[in-house]
Amino acid sequence: MKLLIMGPQASGKGTQAALIAKEFGLKHISTGDLFRAEVAGETELGKQVKELLDAGQLVPDSLTNEIAKKHIEAADGFILDGYPRTATQAAFLDTVTAIDKVLVLEVADETAMERIKGRGRSDDTEEALRNRLAQYHEQTKPLIEYYGEKVVRVDGEPGIEDVTKAIFAVLGA
Ligand code: AMP
Repeated sequence: MKLLIMGPQASGKGTQAALIAKEFGLKHISTGDLFRAEVAGETELGKQVKELLDAGQLVPDSLTNEIAKKHIEAADGFILDGYPRTATQAAFLDTVTAIDKVLVLEVADETAMERIKGRGRSDDTEEALRNRLAQYHEQTKPLIEYYGEKVVRVDGEPGIEDVTKAIFAVLGA
């Protein structure tokens, strides 16, 4: 199974992606996690992207596509979390593989703001958060239309367990 999960910051997509990966034996590929690991490891790529991550700005498509492709090609089944985020990335992904389903977690911006206050990640400053929410609405949300009939919308407002149940039902578990 090749899945994609989309949703604004703090929609719970990372948490749900990990639970889905475990249940269905998929690899959880989070470009955010991959970039954070590069920054923590002080690699060449990490040095290149650190400032962008701290500011909540997108890493250039070319770098993002490269790291995503490497991990996608190494996996049979996977759930992509935080990728693709732009039309260019989505078009590139189509050249690498075909996605079966796109889960969209729907959460209001106000809910995302409230949740993020309790998270404390280094890029959870108000400005970085505003950047990331604006980007989601401008660049990532239009991809929902791009994926057409593959899209399944799930209400991300309830508690984690209820959201997981709804997703598993959609995926036939
Ligand atoms: P996330 O953990 O998904 O919120 O990602 C954290 C940060 O990593 C983002 O704010 C971007 O700076 C970078 N990033 C993650 N995924 C992508 C992507 N698909 N395209 C560009 N930048 C990304």
